Amino acid sequence: MSFLWAFHTIRERRVISILVASTDNGSLVYLTGTHTKEELAAARRKTQFSCPTCGSSVILKVGEVKTPHFAHKNLSHCASYSEAESSMHLHGKLLLYQFFLSQNLTVELEKYFPVIRQRADLLINQHTAIEFQCSPIPAAQIMERTLGYTRSAVQTIWIGGLSEPLAEGIQELKLTHWKKEMLLETQKSPYLLLFSPKENRFYYCSNLIYISGSRWIVKVKSLAASKQQFPFAVPKQMTLAEFKTMSGLFDHARKKFIIAQYYSKNRVQNPFWRTCYEMGIDIRNLPKAIGLPMKNADLINCNAVLWQLQAVEAACKGITAASLIRSGKIPVHKSAAAKEAEALVESYLSLYEKLKGKSNQVSGYTNLLYDFYCKTL
Ligand SMILES: [Zn+2]
Repeated sequence: MSFLWAFHTIRERRVISILVASTDNGSLVYLTGTHTKEELAAARRKTQFSCPTCGSSVILKVGEVKTPHFAHKNLSHCASYSEAESSMHLHGKLLLYQFFLSQNLTVELEKYFPVIRQRADLLINQHTAIEFQCSPIPAAQIMERTLGYTRSAVQTIWIGGLSEPLAEGIQELKLTHWKKEMLLETQKSPYLLLFSPKENRFYYCSNLIYISGSRWIVKVKSLAASKQQFPFAVPKQMTLAEFKTMSGLFDHARKKFIIAQYYSKNRVQNPFWRTCYEMGIDIRNLPKAIGLPMKNADLINCNAVLWQLQAVEAACKGITAASLIRSGKIPVHKSAAAKEAEALVESYLSLYEKLKGKSNQVSGYTNLLYDFYCKTL
């Protein structure tokens, strides 16, 4: 399993770097790669630069390695940014700027919105904010920033920074909460858009299937910036063949969960053992229809095998999905609404009814699962 993103967490020294600064006479200077290093060095000797947002002094930095940028002189709380200094962020922002220019679009670099006190990395055609996020920020902050732009009639596209290339294809990945907040939607099918400045390449993590914790099964596909378009290309719906591969990985994770239960120290208190016991289920023969990949399964904070087992048990006892959720027996993720979790449980139970008693060797089993999964997308 690989982890998404190696982070540039320079949290302890929050130096805010920018690519646009004001000069003494009030004009703006853009570091968009059009100046030579000599020109920049000369400008640095002659001009005092300041941050267009907070007004404090900034220093023009022209080095060998990093993208030329302005750095706040003092440890800054310049409030409008979501991101502190990172060379990946500066480099990526500049490459994205150049990408949008190549598309003949109106691009504003580090566009400030005074009313909401936010600065977008890029603003496209005055209505789309691009946030290129390289370091982890609280998921709540991502929501807040998106909401701020929405209030200013601006749509937001979050792009995650990728420091190393990702392998292409279907695989298991870790997606922590803040990255989940960055998911983009296409026809109700969410995906994550990443950008690797090192390769000048976009990466799509799509066709997400939730396992548990921060584990997901995703399809990774990349696209060179030179092949990209705007509005951005969107991932295709997964094919039946892809779904088979993905459900194979899911099934593997399911088996591992069940095996781990064998080694559970306290079987009396273990909810999996207890529920199996109460339902008279031999855990070595757990019905295949318990532990299925479900759309929106990340609303629930426990393994699919366990919550689906509990959903089936509750249904047998005539307990509704609503009271099951209310009882807290199935832990709902704190950001999720109870109504959504109820719908998920009900949706699962309807699938269970279709599949129970069927062997997954039977032809059509995976097709049925696929149809259901895609219909609920
Ligand atoms: Zn500032």
